[in-house]
Amino acid sequence: MKTALITGANRGIGYEVARQLGSKGFHVFVGARDPQKGRDATEALKKEGGIATFVALDVSDSQSITDAVHTVSEIADHLDVLVNNAGILLEEDATVAQLSAETIMKNFQTNTLGPLRVTQAFLPLLLRGNAPRVVNVSSGGGQLSEGMDTWAPAYCLSKTALNAVTGLFAAAVPDISINSVCPGWVRTDMGGASATRSVEEGADTIVWLAADAPEDLTGQFLRDRKRIPW
Ligand code: NAP
Repeated sequence: MKTALITGANRGIGYEVARQLGSKGFHVFVGARDPQKGRDATEALKKEGGIATFVALDVSDSQSITDAVHTVSEIADHLDVLVNNAGILLEEDATVAQLSAETIMKNFQTNTLGPLRVTQAFLPLLLRGNAPRVVNVSSGGGQLSEGMDTWAPAYCLSKTALNAVTGLFAAAVPDISINSVCPGWVRTDMGGASATRSVEEGADTIVWLAADAPEDLTGQFLRDRKRIPW
């Protein structure tokens, strides 16, 4: 059976990715930092007929990542898919001209170092799978080529760096397919009620890359199943 771990899978885009991969027959490992929320989400996924297992995982905590590898290894001998979805959007009322290093570091801890460390830690299990795939949920806010504005500078910095993580892993580990995705502006707690996309639309390219995209598609940044510039 195919296996997938999704971080931050208890709500928002992560939950929807877990739901869709479950309906495609994956055994879904539901990564969540809050055990109650994680267990509730896992139960909801099971009620929809999916095979789901809760995994306690705070991506900003290296011990939690180590423990999560242990938890998954006790149940599965390989991992086919890792979706680095967990993210925060933490800002001050400031442009980059005044932004504190503390705020920048908090965004990096979860949005950049989180996916980097989780991918490193799960690499042995991924490499035991057949054509393993990693999907890093990034943001158009991290795009350099479109020109940056003043919105959410700490978050945008962390997503630009996450895209670099994608490119570096693609070069260093050719046996995995790894890509960044911009889900668009999605109606979640982070995106808010005015966002233009449903969670189903936001999850689409992530699920496609996780399950159906060509195996040799790697080291790219995508939105709507198409490459976009870095
Ligand atoms: P969301 O509704 O705020 O959900 C964020 C998820 O990440 C929650 O499950 C949260 O867990 C989890 N999380 C945060 N910090 C974590 C940590 N340290 N360890 C583990 N889990 C953690 O956000 P979303 O809109 O679904 O966003 C999902 C991803 O899409 C993020 O990477 C985001 O940057 C990206 N994205 C979103 C949009 C958008 O418009 N929504 C646009 C572009 C990119 P808790 O419930 O415990 O807080």
